[in-house]
Amino acid sequence: MKTPLIAGNWKMNGGVEANDALVRAVLGGLQASGGAEVAVCVPAPYLAQVQTLTAGTPLALGAQDVSAHDKGAYTGEVSAAMLREFGVRYAIVGHSERRQYHGESDALVAEKARAALAAGITPIVCVGETLAEREAGRTEEVVKRQLAAVIHLNGHCISEIVVAYEPVWAIGTGQTATPEQAQAVHAVLRAQLLAATAQAARVKILYGGSMNAANAAELLARPDIDGGLIGGASLKPADFLTIVGAARAD
Ligand code: PEP
Repeated sequence: MKTPLIAGNWKMNGGVEANDALVRAVLGGLQASGGAEVAVCVPAPYLAQVQTLTAGTPLALGAQDVSAHDKGAYTGEVSAAMLREFGVRYAIVGHSERRQYHGESDALVAEKARAALAAGITPIVCVGETLAEREAGRTEEVVKRQLAAVIHLNGHCISEIVVAYEPVWAIGTGQTATPEQAQAVHAVLRAQLLAATAQAARVKILYGGSMNAANAAELLARPDIDGGLIGGASLKPADFLTIVGAARAD
């Protein structure tokens, strides 16, 4: 059985004082931890702070993006090697907010996943359909296209990635996919990964999109939902810890 992964995505939130309180509160509740892997993906300027706070603890450190390039004239970008120097274990790639506001294409997301893997960082590859795409019956086509780009470029080490199914209409909206809706898409993604390599049976497929303390257990109970990518609720330690607890209980 796969160890569930609960990853918090702080997005562009935080501050030195607030981060300190949040991480300490999460760590306080994780001491009795066993079962779930837990990570927080923090804004780049806070990597050093959170690395110090989490050193030697069960809380893993993640980034919210990574450059597709190794180094050079790419102002504002942060390379995978740089992230690695701060103990980063996971990097979100292809979050819908990056695709939407920064025009990230499937091909670029695949390059970012490759850069992360080359540095020993696990990319959390986000895929998901918009409301219009769901209503047009295109959910499967869209998520398969997004994942196919990553498989195509990273086929040889695709079993090293984590996938996050994040329906765009559920992110930050309070509108969660039903467990049935989420499981159906996760099963499609699982089949696609398995068609690429039998090793892909061990790939974790997380659900993300308004997962919270109240709905986590039901979602995490589904066979192909191996954890969660948590936005808003990851900023509330009690809620985040409840989600972690729900993953452990699964
Ligand atoms: C996210 O940012 O990846 C996310 C799932 O956000 P939220 O939980 O707030 O919907």
